[in-house]
Amino acid sequence: MENVYENIAYLVASSLFVFGLKDLAHPRTARRGNLLGAIGMLIAVVVTLFDRQILSYEMIIAGLVIGSAAGLILAQKVQMTAVPQIVALFNGLGGGASALVAAAAFAEALTLKQVSSVQFTIATAAAGFIGAVTFWGSLLAFGKLQGITTEKAVRFPGQDALNIALLMIIVLFGAVLTIDPSALWAYWALVAVSSVLGITLILPVGGADMPVIIALLNSYSGLAAAATGFVLSNNILIICGALVGSSGLILTKIMCKAMNRPFGKCVFGRTGGASPAGKKEADIYAGQVKSASPEEVAMIIDAAHRIVIVPGYGMAVSQAQHAVSSLAVLLESRGKNVEFGIHPVAGRMPGHMNVLLAEANIPYDKLKTMDEINPTFDQTDVVLVIGANDVVNPLARTDPGSPIAGMPILNVDHARAVIVIKRSLSPGFAGIPNPLFAADNCMMLFGDGKGIILELITAIEAS
Ligand code: NDP
Repeated sequence: MENVYENIAYLVASSLFVFGLKDLAHPRTARRGNLLGAIGMLIAVVVTLFDRQILSYEMIIAGLVIGSAAGLILAQKVQMTAVPQIVALFNGLGGGASALVAAAAFAEALTLKQVSSVQFTIATAAAGFIGAVTFWGSLLAFGKLQGITTEKAVRFPGQDALNIALLMIIVLFGAVLTIDPSALWAYWALVAVSSVLGITLILPVGGADMPVIIALLNSYSGLAAAATGFVLSNNILIICGALVGSSGLILTKIMCKAMNRPFGKCVFGRTGGASPAGKKEADIYAGQVKSASPEEVAMIIDAAHRIVIVPGYGMAVSQAQHAVSSLAVLLESRGKNVEFGIHPVAGRMPGHMNVLLAEANIPYDKLKTMDEINPTFDQTDVVLVIGANDVVNPLARTDPGSPIAGMPILNVDHARAVIVIKRSLSPGFAGIPNPLFAADNCMMLFGDGKGIILELITAIEAS
Protein backbone atom coordinates (compact mmCIF):
# COMPACT_ATOMS: atom_id res chain seq x y z
CA MET A 1 0.00 0.00 0.00
CA GLU A 2 2.86 2.35 0.95
CA ASN A 3 4.22 1.86 -2.53
CA VAL A 4 0.94 3.08 -4.02
CA TYR A 5 1.13 6.38 -2.10
CA GLU A 6 4.81 6.70 -3.05
CA ASN A 7 4.04 6.18 -6.73
CA ILE A 8 1.12 8.64 -6.64
CA ALA A 9 3.44 11.26 -5.08
CA TYR A 10 6.06 10.52 -7.76
CA LEU A 11 3.38 10.92 -10.43
CA VAL A 12 2.42 14.34 -9.03
CA ALA A 13 6.11 15.35 -8.90
CA SER A 14 6.67 14.15 -12.50
CA SER A 15 3.61 16.10 -13.72
CA LEU A 16 4.99 19.22 -12.01
CA PHE A 17 8.33 18.69 -13.83
CA VAL A 18 6.58 18.38 -17.20
CA PHE A 19 4.41 21.50 -16.64
CA GLY A 20 7.46 23.32 -15.26
CA LEU A 21 9.47 22.48 -18.37
CA LYS A 22 6.63 23.72 -20.57
CA ASP A 23 6.53 27.03 -18.67
CA LEU A 24 10.31 27.39 -18.95
CA ALA A 25 9.91 27.58 -22.73
CA HIS A 26 8.82 31.23 -22.50
CA PRO A 27 10.38 34.09 -20.49
CA ARG A 28 6.97 35.31 -19.31
CA THR A 29 6.14 31.97 -17.65
CA ALA A 30 9.69 30.88 -16.79
CA ARG A 31 9.54 31.94 -13.11
CA ARG A 32 6.37 29.87 -12.60
CA GLY A 33 8.05 26.96 -14.41
CA ASN A 34 11.02 27.17 -12.05
CA LEU A 35 8.71 27.17 -9.03
CA LEU A 36 6.70 24.18 -10.31
CA GLY A 37 9.93 22.23 -10.91
CA ALA A 38 11.22 23.10 -7.42
CA ILE A 39 7.94 21.99 -5.76
CA GLY A 40 8.07 18.75 -7.77
CA MET A 41 11.64 18.15 -6.60
CA LEU A 42 10.70 18.85 -2.96
CA ILE A 43 7.88 16.28 -3.15
CA ALA A 44 10.23 13.74 -4.77
CA VAL A 45 12.97 14.26 -2.15
CA VAL A 46 10.59 14.14 0.85
CA VAL A 47 8.83 11.00 -0.40
CA THR A 48 12.19 9.31 -1.06
CA LEU A 49 13.43 10.25 2.42
CA PHE A 50 10.40 8.53 3.94
CA ASP A 51 11.17 5.41 1.92
CA ARG A 52 11.12 2.41 4.23
CA GLN A 53 14.42 1.14 2.78
CA ILE A 54 16.38 3.94 4.44
CA LEU A 55 18.04 2.47 7.52
CA SER A 56 19.91 5.47 8.88
CA TYR A 57 19.65 9.16 8.24
CA GLU A 58 23.16 10.10 9.51
CA MET A 59 24.90 9.69 6.16
CA ILE A 60 22.09 11.53 4.37
CA ILE A 61 22.30 14.47 6.78
CA ALA A 62 26.12 14.53 6.50
CA GLY A 63 25.80 14.58 2.68
CA LEU A 64 23.19 17.33 2.85
CA VAL A 65 25.37 19.50 5.11
CA ILE A 66 28.54 19.05 3.00
CA GLY A 67 26.68 19.47 -0.32
CA SER A 68 24.72 22.54 0.86
CA ALA A 69 27.89 24.19 2.22
CA ALA A 70 29.74 23.57 -1.07
CA GLY A 71 26.72 24.86 -3.06
CA LEU A 72 26.43 27.98 -0.89
CA ILE A 73 30.13 28.84 -1.25
CA LEU A 74 29.99 28.23 -5.03
CA ALA A 75 26.85 30.37 -5.44
CA GLN A 76 28.49 33.27 -3.62
CA LYS A 77 31.92 33.04 -5.21
CA VAL A 78 31.19 32.16 -8.84
CA GLN A 79 30.99 35.06 -11.30
CA MET A 80 28.08 35.15 -13.76
CA THR A 81 30.60 34.65 -16.56
CA ALA A 82 31.81 31.37 -15.01
CA VAL A 83 28.33 29.81 -14.87
CA PRO A 84 28.89 27.64 -18.00
CA GLN A 85 31.89 25.85 -16.49
CA ILE A 86 29.92 25.35 -13.27
CA VAL A 87 27.08 23.86 -15.33
CA ALA A 88 29.67 21.57 -16.95
CA LEU A 89 30.91 20.57 -13.49
CA PHE A 90 27.37 19.88 -12.24
CA ASN A 91 26.68 17.70 -15.30
CA GLY A 92 29.87 15.79 -14.56
CA LEU A 93 29.04 15.31 -10.87
CA GLY A 94 25.57 14.06 -11.86
CA GLY A 95 27.14 11.48 -14.20
CA GLY A 96 29.76 10.45 -11.61
CA ALA A 97 27.08 10.07 -8.92
CA SER A 98 24.99 7.85 -11.21
CA ALA A 99 27.97 5.56 -11.89
CA LEU A 100 28.79 5.31 -8.16
CA VAL A 101 25.18 4.71 -7.04
CA ALA A 102 24.85 1.98 -9.69
CA ALA A 103 28.11 0.44 -8.42
CA ALA A 104 26.86 0.49 -4.81
CA ALA A 105 23.52 -1.07 -5.79
CA PHE A 106 25.34 -3.73 -7.81
CA ALA A 107 27.78 -4.55 -4.97
CA GLU A 108 24.88 -4.74 -2.49
CA ALA A 109 22.93 -7.05 -4.79
CA LEU A 110 26.02 -9.26 -5.10
CA THR A 111 26.42 -9.45 -1.32
CA LEU A 112 22.73 -10.32 -0.87
CA LYS A 113 22.93 -12.68 -3.89
CA GLN A 114 20.03 -10.79 -5.47
CA VAL A 115 21.34 -10.05 -8.98
CA SER A 116 18.36 -11.60 -10.63
CA SER A 117 17.44 -9.97 -13.92
CA VAL A 118 19.22 -9.14 -17.15
CA GLN A 119 17.55 -5.72 -16.98
CA PHE A 120 19.42 -5.05 -13.73
CA THR A 121 22.87 -5.87 -15.14
CA ILE A 122 22.27 -4.03 -18.43
CA ALA A 123 21.04 -0.95 -16.53
CA THR A 124 24.08 -1.13 -14.23
CA ALA A 125 26.45 -1.33 -17.21
CA ALA A 126 24.63 1.57 -18.94
CA ALA A 127 24.79 3.74 -15.78
CA GLY A 128 28.53 3.01 -15.39
CA PHE A 129 29.24 3.68 -19.06
CA ILE A 130 27.23 6.91 -19.52
CA GLY A 131 28.06 8.16 -16.02
CA ALA A 132 31.83 7.76 -16.48
CA VAL A 133 31.80 9.30 -19.99
CA THR A 134 29.80 12.24 -18.59
CA PHE A 135 32.03 12.70 -15.56
CA TRP A 136 35.37 12.76 -17.36
CA GLY A 137 34.04 14.52 -20.47
CA SER A 138 32.51 17.25 -18.30
CA LEU A 139 35.70 17.65 -16.26
CA LEU A 140 37.63 18.23 -19.48
CA ALA A 141 34.93 20.65 -20.74
CA PHE A 142 35.23 22.49 -17.39
CA GLY A 143 39.00 22.68 -17.85
CA LYS A 144 38.62 24.05 -21.38
CA LEU A 145 36.08 26.71 -20.37
CA GLN A 146 38.06 27.69 -17.26
CA GLY A 147 41.28 27.94 -19.27
CA ILE A 148 42.98 25.22 -17.17
CA THR A 149 43.53 23.11 -20.31
CA THR A 150 43.76 24.37 -23.88
CA GLU A 151 40.35 25.29 -25.31
CA LYS A 152 41.66 24.36 -28.78
CA ALA A 153 40.70 21.20 -30.62
CA VAL A 154 43.26 18.45 -29.90
CA ARG A 155 43.40 15.95 -32.75
CA PHE A 156 45.72 13.04 -33.45
CA PRO A 157 45.85 10.34 -36.12
CA GLY A 158 43.60 7.35 -35.49
CA GLN A 159 41.35 9.24 -33.07
CA ASP A 160 38.12 7.85 -34.57
CA ALA A 161 39.52 4.30 -34.69
CA LEU A 162 40.54 4.60 -31.03
CA ASN A 163 37.04 5.77 -30.02
CA ILE A 164 35.41 2.88 -31.89
CA ALA A 165 37.85 0.40 -30.28
CA LEU A 166 37.09 1.82 -26.81
CA LEU A 167 33.35 1.54 -27.50
CA MET A 168 33.75 -2.10 -28.54
CA ILE A 169 35.73 -2.92 -25.36
CA ILE A 170 32.97 -1.28 -23.30
CA VAL A 171 30.30 -3.41 -25.06
CA LEU A 172 32.49 -6.47 -24.36
CA PHE A 173 32.72 -5.73 -20.61
CA GLY A 174 28.96 -5.04 -20.59
CA ALA A 175 28.38 -8.46 -22.14
CA VAL A 176 30.68 -10.14 -19.56
CA LEU A 177 28.67 -8.46 -16.80
CA THR A 178 25.38 -9.66 -18.25
CA ILE A 179 26.58 -13.24 -18.71
CA ASP A 180 28.36 -13.43 -15.33
CA PRO A 181 26.54 -11.08 -12.89
CA SER A 182 29.12 -11.83 -10.17
CA ALA A 183 31.90 -10.13 -12.16
CA LEU A 184 32.20 -6.83 -10.27
CA TRP A 185 35.67 -6.41 -11.82
CA ALA A 186 34.01 -6.16 -15.27
CA TYR A 187 31.92 -3.22 -14.03
CA TRP A 188 35.01 -1.30 -12.87
CA ALA A 189 36.88 -2.19 -16.08
CA LEU A 190 33.91 -0.86 -18.07
CA VAL A 191 33.96 2.35 -15.99
CA ALA A 192 37.73 2.77 -16.53
CA VAL A 193 37.48 2.39 -20.33
CA SER A 194 34.42 4.68 -20.42
CA SER A 195 36.43 7.30 -18.54
CA VAL A 196 39.10 7.23 -21.25
CA LEU A 197 36.37 7.49 -23.90
CA GLY A 198 34.90 10.53 -22.10
CA ILE A 199 38.24 12.30 -22.51
CA THR A 200 38.95 11.22 -26.09
CA LEU A 201 35.45 12.34 -27.16
CA ILE A 202 35.86 15.86 -25.77
CA LEU A 203 39.56 16.39 -26.70
CA PRO A 204 38.82 17.20 -30.38
CA VAL A 205 36.13 19.74 -29.49
CA GLY A 206 37.49 23.22 -29.54
CA GLY A 207 37.03 26.73 -30.71
CA ALA A 208 33.43 27.78 -30.71
CA ASP A 209 31.89 24.32 -30.49
CA MET A 210 31.75 23.98 -26.70
CA PRO A 211 28.05 25.03 -26.44
CA VAL A 212 27.01 21.93 -28.39
CA ILE A 213 29.09 19.67 -26.19
CA ILE A 214 27.87 21.20 -22.92
CA ALA A 215 24.27 20.58 -24.06
CA LEU A 216 25.18 17.01 -25.05
CA LEU A 217 26.90 16.28 -21.72
CA ASN A 218 23.85 17.68 -19.94
CA SER A 219 21.74 15.20 -21.83
CA TYR A 220 24.15 12.35 -20.98
CA SER A 221 23.92 13.18 -17.26
CA GLY A 222 20.14 12.73 -17.55
CA LEU A 223 20.48 9.42 -19.40
CA ALA A 224 22.94 8.17 -16.75
CA ALA A 225 20.41 9.06 -14.02
CA ALA A 226 17.62 7.28 -15.94
CA ALA A 227 19.80 4.14 -16.20
CA THR A 228 20.46 4.32 -12.43
CA GLY A 229 16.68 4.66 -11.96
CA PHE A 230 16.31 1.25 -13.66
CA VAL A 231 19.06 -0.18 -11.39
CA LEU A 232 17.23 1.03 -8.27
CA SER A 233 13.74 0.45 -9.74
CA ASN A 234 13.01 4.06 -8.82
CA ASN A 235 10.33 5.58 -11.06
CA ILE A 236 11.01 9.23 -10.29
CA LEU A 237 14.71 8.84 -11.15
CA ILE A 238 13.78 7.19 -14.45
CA ILE A 239 11.33 9.98 -15.31
CA CYS A 240 13.61 12.84 -14.19
CA GLY A 241 16.57 11.32 -16.02
CA ALA A 242 14.54 10.82 -19.18
CA LEU A 243 13.31 14.44 -19.02
CA VAL A 244 16.86 15.80 -18.60
CA GLY A 245 18.16 13.42 -21.28
CA SER A 246 15.53 14.32 -23.86
CA SER A 247 15.50 18.06 -23.19
CA GLY A 248 19.32 18.03 -23.37
CA LEU A 249 19.15 16.23 -26.71
CA ILE A 250 16.63 18.78 -28.02
CA LEU A 251 18.95 21.60 -26.89
CA THR A 252 21.89 19.85 -28.57
CA LYS A 253 19.90 19.65 -31.82
CA ILE A 254 19.03 23.36 -31.58
CA MET A 255 22.69 24.23 -30.93
CA CYS A 256 23.86 22.02 -33.81
CA LYS A 257 21.40 23.79 -36.11
CA ALA A 258 22.50 27.21 -34.83
CA MET A 259 26.13 26.32 -35.51
CA ASN A 260 25.45 24.35 -38.67
CA ARG A 261 27.07 21.19 -37.29
CA PRO A 262 25.73 17.70 -38.15
CA PHE A 263 24.12 16.17 -35.05
CA GLY A 264 25.67 12.73 -35.63
CA LYS A 265 29.17 14.17 -35.76
CA CYS A 266 28.61 16.12 -32.52
CA VAL A 267 27.73 12.93 -30.67
CA PHE A 268 31.15 11.53 -31.67
CA GLY A 269 33.01 14.75 -30.79
CA ARG A 270 33.64 15.56 -34.46
CA THR A 271 32.59 19.18 -34.41
CA GLY A 272 34.05 22.27 -36.01
CA GLY A 273 36.79 22.98 -38.50
CA ALA A 274 40.52 22.95 -38.00
CA SER A 275 42.46 24.40 -35.08
CA PRO A 276 42.96 28.14 -35.12
CA ALA A 277 45.43 28.71 -37.88
CA GLY A 278 45.23 30.43 -41.22
CA LYS A 279 45.64 34.16 -41.49
CA LYS A 280 47.63 36.01 -38.86
CA GLU A 281 46.18 39.02 -37.05
CA ALA A 282 48.83 41.32 -38.55
CA ASP A 283 47.77 40.33 -42.12
CA ILE A 284 44.09 40.90 -41.39
CA TYR A 285 44.32 44.17 -39.47
CA ALA A 286 47.36 45.60 -41.38
CA GLY A 287 46.88 49.20 -40.23
CA GLN A 288 43.26 49.28 -41.42
CA VAL A 289 41.55 49.37 -38.03
CA LYS A 290 39.91 52.72 -37.24
CA SER A 291 39.09 53.74 -33.69
CA ALA A 292 36.61 56.40 -32.62
CA SER A 293 35.80 58.36 -29.46
CA PRO A 294 32.38 58.27 -27.72
CA GLU A 295 31.72 61.80 -29.04
CA GLU A 296 32.38 60.73 -32.67
CA VAL A 297 30.12 57.69 -32.24
CA ALA A 298 27.42 59.92 -30.72
CA MET A 299 27.48 62.00 -33.93
CA ILE A 300 27.11 58.91 -36.13
CA ILE A 301 24.23 57.69 -33.97
CA ASP A 302 22.57 61.11 -34.11
CA ALA A 303 22.11 60.74 -37.88
CA ALA A 304 20.81 57.14 -37.68
CA HIS A 305 17.18 56.00 -37.80
CA ARG A 306 17.50 52.27 -37.28
CA ILE A 307 20.02 50.92 -34.74
CA VAL A 308 20.66 47.27 -33.90
CA ILE A 309 22.52 46.32 -30.71
CA VAL A 310 24.43 43.02 -30.80
CA PRO A 311 25.58 41.87 -27.35
CA GLY A 312 28.16 39.18 -26.68
CA TYR A 313 30.27 37.64 -23.96
CA GLY A 314 32.02 40.99 -23.22
CA MET A 315 28.70 42.51 -22.15
CA ALA A 316 28.40 39.73 -19.57
CA VAL A 317 32.01 40.22 -18.38
CA SER A 318 31.55 43.95 -17.83
CA GLN A 319 27.97 43.52 -16.49
CA ALA A 320 26.93 46.23 -18.95
CA GLN A 321 23.30 45.09 -19.40
CA HIS A 322 21.75 47.88 -17.29
CA ALA A 323 23.86 50.53 -19.06
CA VAL A 324 22.81 48.98 -22.41
CA SER A 325 19.16 49.17 -21.32
CA SER A 326 19.58 52.90 -20.42
CA LEU A 327 21.23 53.49 -23.80
CA ALA A 328 18.33 51.81 -25.64
CA VAL A 329 15.76 53.91 -23.71
CA LEU A 330 17.72 57.11 -24.50
CA LEU A 331 17.96 56.26 -28.20
CA GLU A 332 14.23 55.49 -28.41
CA SER A 333 13.44 58.77 -26.66
CA ARG A 334 15.31 60.42 -29.55
CA GLY A 335 13.03 58.73 -32.08
CA LYS A 336 15.39 55.90 -33.13
CA ASN A 337 14.16 52.42 -33.93
CA VAL A 338 16.21 50.11 -31.66
CA GLU A 339 16.32 46.31 -31.76
CA PHE A 340 18.64 43.65 -30.36
CA GLY A 341 20.19 40.88 -32.49
CA ILE A 342 20.74 37.74 -30.40
CA HIS A 343 22.98 34.95 -31.69
CA PRO A 344 22.07 31.54 -30.22
CA VAL A 345 25.63 30.92 -28.94
CA ALA A 346 26.52 34.48 -27.88
CA GLY A 347 28.07 34.49 -24.41
CA ARG A 348 29.02 31.28 -22.66
CA MET A 349 25.72 29.47 -22.13
CA PRO A 350 22.50 28.95 -24.08
CA GLY A 351 20.21 31.93 -23.53
CA HIS A 352 23.01 33.91 -21.79
CA MET A 353 22.17 37.20 -23.51
CA ASN A 354 18.39 36.75 -23.09
CA VAL A 355 18.82 36.25 -19.34
CA LEU A 356 21.04 39.33 -18.92
CA LEU A 357 18.83 41.60 -21.04
CA ALA A 358 15.67 40.36 -19.28
CA GLU A 359 17.38 41.15 -15.96
CA ALA A 360 17.81 44.74 -17.27
CA ASN A 361 14.07 44.87 -18.13
CA ILE A 362 14.54 45.10 -21.87
CA PRO A 363 11.17 44.14 -23.43
CA TYR A 364 11.33 40.63 -24.84
CA ASP A 365 9.80 41.63 -28.17
CA LYS A 366 12.87 43.83 -28.82
CA LEU A 367 15.11 40.76 -28.84
CA LYS A 368 15.31 39.31 -32.35
CA THR A 369 16.70 35.93 -33.24
CA MET A 370 19.44 35.53 -35.84
CA ASP A 371 16.94 34.47 -38.51
CA GLU A 372 14.74 37.48 -37.79
CA ILE A 373 17.46 40.12 -37.65
CA ASN A 374 19.82 39.00 -40.44
CA PRO A 375 17.57 40.10 -43.35
CA THR A 376 17.26 43.57 -41.76
CA PHE A 377 20.96 44.53 -41.60
CA ASP A 378 20.87 45.89 -45.17
CA GLN A 379 18.37 48.53 -43.97
CA THR A 380 20.19 49.24 -40.69
CA ASP A 381 22.09 52.51 -40.23
CA VAL A 382 24.22 51.59 -37.22
CA VAL A 383 25.03 48.31 -35.50
CA LEU A 384 26.49 48.57 -31.99
CA VAL A 385 28.42 45.38 -31.25
CA ILE A 386 28.96 45.21 -27.49
CA GLY A 387 31.55 42.63 -26.44
CA ALA A 388 30.68 40.18 -29.24
CA ASN A 389 33.36 38.76 -31.52
CA ASP A 390 33.01 35.17 -32.87
CA VAL A 391 29.27 35.55 -33.52
CA VAL A 392 29.92 38.47 -35.92
CA ASN A 393 33.13 37.12 -37.50
CA PRO A 394 32.83 36.97 -41.33
CA LEU A 395 35.62 34.32 -41.44
CA ALA A 396 32.81 31.83 -40.68
CA ARG A 397 31.51 32.54 -44.18
CA THR A 398 34.81 32.90 -46.02
CA ASP A 399 37.48 30.66 -44.46
CA PRO A 400 36.72 26.91 -44.64
CA GLY A 401 39.80 26.19 -42.47
CA SER A 402 38.64 28.34 -39.58
CA PRO A 403 37.30 26.68 -36.39
CA ILE A 404 34.01 28.54 -36.88
CA ALA A 405 33.72 27.66 -40.59
CA GLY A 406 30.10 27.18 -41.61
CA MET A 407 28.66 28.62 -38.38
CA PRO A 408 25.90 31.08 -39.28
CA ILE A 409 26.79 34.53 -37.95
CA LEU A 410 24.99 37.83 -37.45
CA ASN A 411 25.74 39.64 -40.74
CA VAL A 412 26.44 42.98 -39.07
CA ASP A 413 28.93 43.88 -41.83
CA HIS A 414 25.93 44.38 -44.16
CA ALA A 415 24.84 47.46 -42.19
CA ARG A 416 25.83 51.01 -43.19
CA ALA A 417 28.07 51.50 -40.12
CA VAL A 418 29.31 49.11 -37.44
CA ILE A 419 30.67 50.25 -34.07
CA VAL A 420 32.47 47.53 -32.09
CA ILE A 421 32.85 48.07 -28.34
CA LYS A 422 35.62 45.98 -26.73
CA ARG A 423 38.85 46.58 -24.88
CA SER A 424 41.39 45.58 -27.54
CA LEU A 425 41.75 43.58 -30.76
CA SER A 426 42.03 40.34 -28.74
CA PRO A 427 40.23 37.34 -30.24
CA GLY A 428 37.07 35.78 -28.83
CA PHE A 429 36.56 32.20 -27.58
CA ALA A 430 37.51 30.63 -30.93
CA GLY A 431 40.94 32.30 -30.79
CA ILE A 432 40.91 33.77 -34.30
CA PRO A 433 41.23 37.32 -35.65
CA ASN A 434 38.13 39.10 -36.96
CA PRO A 435 38.29 40.88 -40.37
CA LEU A 436 35.15 42.86 -39.39
CA PHE A 437 37.37 45.13 -37.26
CA ALA A 438 39.31 46.17 -40.39
CA ALA A 439 36.24 46.61 -42.64
CA ASP A 440 35.64 50.01 -44.29
CA ASN A 441 32.29 50.49 -42.53
CA CYS A 442 33.59 49.49 -39.08
CA MET A 443 34.96 51.60 -36.21
CA MET A 444 36.29 50.38 -32.87
CA LEU A 445 35.22 52.07 -29.64
CA PHE A 446 37.86 50.71 -27.27
CA GLY A 447 37.17 50.32 -23.55
CA ASP A 448 35.41 48.27 -20.90
CA GLY A 449 31.84 47.58 -22.05
CA LYS A 450 29.97 49.21 -19.15
CA GLY A 451 32.29 52.22 -18.76
CA ILE A 452 32.32 53.03 -22.46
CA ILE A 453 28.52 52.79 -22.79
CA LEU A 454 28.09 55.19 -19.87
CA GLU A 455 30.51 57.57 -21.66
CA LEU A 456 28.51 57.13 -24.86
CA ILE A 457 25.26 57.97 -23.03
CA THR A 458 26.87 61.17 -21.67
CA ALA A 459 28.10 62.08 -25.18
CA ILE A 460 24.65 61.46 -26.75
CA GLU A 461 22.92 63.51 -24.02
CA ALA A 462 25.37 66.35 -24.67
CA SER A 463 24.87 66.27 -28.46
P1 NDP B 1 33.57 35.96 -27.92
O1 NDP B 1 34.10 35.04 -26.90
O2 NDP B 1 33.78 35.62 -29.33
O3 NDP B 1 34.21 37.42 -27.72
C1 NDP B 1 33.99 38.13 -26.57
C2 NDP B 1 34.75 39.44 -26.66
O4 NDP B 1 34.38 40.20 -25.53
C3 NDP B 1 36.24 39.29 -26.64
O5 NDP B 1 36.80 39.44 -27.92
C4 NDP B 1 36.71 40.36 -25.66
O6 NDP B 1 37.60 41.28 -26.31
C5 NDP B 1 35.43 41.09 -25.28
N1 NDP B 1 35.41 41.47 -23.87
C6 NDP B 1 35.81 40.75 -22.80
N2 NDP B 1 35.68 41.45 -21.69
C7 NDP B 1 35.17 42.66 -22.05
C8 NDP B 1 34.82 43.82 -21.32
N3 NDP B 1 34.97 43.93 -19.99
N4 NDP B 1 34.30 44.88 -22.02
C9 NDP B 1 34.15 44.80 -23.36
N5 NDP B 1 34.49 43.73 -24.09
C10 NDP B 1 34.99 42.66 -23.43
O7 NDP B 1 32.04 36.20 -27.58
P2 NDP B 1 30.74 35.96 -28.47
O8 NDP B 1 29.61 36.18 -27.54
O9 NDP B 1 30.82 36.75 -29.74
O10 NDP B 1 30.80 34.44 -28.89
C11 NDP B 1 30.64 33.40 -27.95
C12 NDP B 1 31.73 32.36 -28.13
O11 NDP B 1 31.75 31.48 -27.01
C13 NDP B 1 31.44 31.53 -29.37
O12 NDP B 1 32.65 31.13 -29.92
C14 NDP B 1 30.69 30.34 -28.75
O13 NDP B 1 30.71 29.19 -29.55
C15 NDP B 1 31.48 30.15 -27.47
N6 NDP B 1 30.74 29.44 -26.43
C16 NDP B 1 29.42 29.69 -26.26
C17 NDP B 1 28.68 28.99 -25.32
C18 NDP B 1 27.19 29.18 -25.24
O14 NDP B 1 26.51 28.26 -24.81
N7 NDP B 1 26.69 30.35 -25.60
C19 NDP B 1 29.34 28.00 -24.41
C20 NDP B 1 30.77 27.88 -24.63
C21 NDP B 1 31.43 28.58 -25.61
P3 NDP B 1 38.61 42.18 -25.46
O15 NDP B 1 39.39 41.24 -24.61
O16 NDP B 1 39.42 42.86 -26.51
O17 NDP B 1 37.79 43.14 -24.67
